[in-house]
Amino acid sequence: MTALVNLDGRIVPPGDACISVFDRGFLYGDSVYEVVRTYGLHPFELAPHLRRLAGSAGRIGLELPWDEARLETELTRTLEASRGGDVPDAQAAPWNEGERQARIVVTRGAGEVGLDPALAVGPAVVIAVLPLRGPPRRDYQAGVAVWPIGDRRAGDPAAKTGEHLFQVMAVKEARARGAHEALLLDDAGEVVEGASSNVFAVRAGALVTPPVSAGLLEGVTRRVVLDIARQAGLPIREEPLPLRSLQDADEAFLTSTVREVLPVVRVGERTVGRGRPGPTTRQLHASLRTRADAVARGEVS
Ligand code: PMP
Repeated sequence: MTALVNLDGRIVPPGDACISVFDRGFLYGDSVYEVVRTYGLHPFELAPHLRRLAGSAGRIGLELPWDEARLETELTRTLEASRGGDVPDAQAAPWNEGERQARIVVTRGAGEVGLDPALAVGPAVVIAVLPLRGPPRRDYQAGVAVWPIGDRRAGDPAAKTGEHLFQVMAVKEARARGAHEALLLDDAGEVVEGASSNVFAVRAGALVTPPVSAGLLEGVTRRVVLDIARQAGLPIREEPLPLRSLQDADEAFLTSTVREVLPVVRVGERTVGRGRPGPTTRQLHASLRTRADAVARGEVS
């Protein structure tokens, strides 16, 4: 498949999915969004994604034109329309083959140009369904690097909005350093999260991750991984994570919808653990894969 777009309820090819140049999402990043992925073309953890979308909208005073039921119906319809046409990718992680990512974007809409949100006329809803391009298989086998950067984001970290210029520049810097992801640090040098991921360390047999109060986006995958760890009886500590503690950890990994559980083997200039994905990381990823496989078979949602 290439891509398919549902624009305000009409399913069209990407070239026909046109939105006004006066749309506030385009002009100001005045929009909210979610990225949902599929297993067996079934959306994974859709309810928490839609809840978070509604939460983000509420936080910026944007009234969603569709309720959760309509969003789910339109997403399902668009996913169904996207069936077939997949091009095999030899580099892809096997669980991503033939899967989709759906980007749900709601902008405050177009209107007279000006910052005042009262100028907006009618929100636009976009559901863009794309082939899932997660990290390649070799990143799970070898692990990835992250590059620390001071967190200078403005605004509410719990609102997932279109305003992303700081994260764009942070990832640019990380890539220039040969790293997969930017690691955002607060003024005290403590880890907040990745530019588009949550961060975990394994230290002395315990799972350590910064608390939501550190100013991070509460990832859907973060919650799933914490749930899996709790069920496995792994000690969990949601506590401040100084950069040094992450670098000195036995293991480290990132979580996000498109990454699942991605091992980190270098933080800045320092190697983590033995420089290879660790056993706890592998175990947690394997458990998440088991859940995902059940979703792919249609046994759970
Ligand atoms: N933090 C930020 C800033 C993000 O943009 C994302 C990606 N949505 C995440 C964490 C991970 O969230 P999730 O597991 O819900 O994809």
